[in-house]
Amino acid sequence: MKYLLMLTVIAATLVAGCSDNSSEFSSANQSNFHSEIDLETLRVNIGNIALEELTPAEIHGLEFMREEEKLAHDVYLTFHEQYGTNIFTNIAGSEQVHTDAVLILLDRYDIEDPVGDNGIGVFTNEDLQALYTELIESGSQSLEDALYVGCAIEEIDILDLIEHMSHTNYKDLQMVYQHLLEGSGNHLRAYVPQWEQRTGLEYEPRFLSVEAFDEIMSASGPGGGGNGGGGGGGHGH
Ligand code: ZN
Ligand code: ZN
Repeated sequence: MKYLLMLTVIAATLVAGCSDNSSEFSSANQSNFHSEIDLETLRVNIGNIALEELTPAEIHGLEFMREEEKLAHDVYLTFHEQYGTNIFTNIAGSEQVHTDAVLILLDRYDIEDPVGDNGIGVFTNEDLQALYTELIESGSQSLEDALYVGCAIEEIDILDLIEHMSHTNYKDLQMVYQHLLEGSGNHLRAYVPQWEQRTGLEYEPRFLSVEAFDEIMSASGPGGGGNGGGGGGGHGH
């Protein structure tokens, strides 16, 4: 359970910066994670947007999200090898598209890619490196633990995306982050019921507010909006 401490620290840091930006937690097709972003279409759409001067916070956000999406990919791929469960390969495929989508922006703004030739489980960001080790350790106990780690990653990913979206008004960055956010909502909606089914327990969000979590879990199509701030609210399953 040591990783929870670290997750809490990281999530607390991230949540601190997110206040009143509104974000949609709309979902694409839940059963086909690969179809949620077409990288070529995204590349073309981004190319039609004027190039901007990025602030250090925007640059940091891109570098961080590039590696955080890789972390999700690497963890799920490792769990797939361990448990052979399809949910991990399907979602790992989606995370690969997400990290590639961020790379489009890094290339566009001539920012050095923190991933480079790094293999599975290797990260430039030290916090993500440490987090990876903890997550793999925690998920190695059982399939239930691995699914629980999946839920945690998606909750944290959503909070990080909201945080970095709040630091930019640029349409290209917003477009990519929005795609990733929709993907994370899909992934959370996939992991939570699997974990609940296997454990017979009701999942309680660990990083998102109950209100935001309920909103994400009930979103079933574009327009299922909400925002990540605030707390309280009922948890009516
Ligand atoms: Zn993702
Ligand atoms: Zn995800």
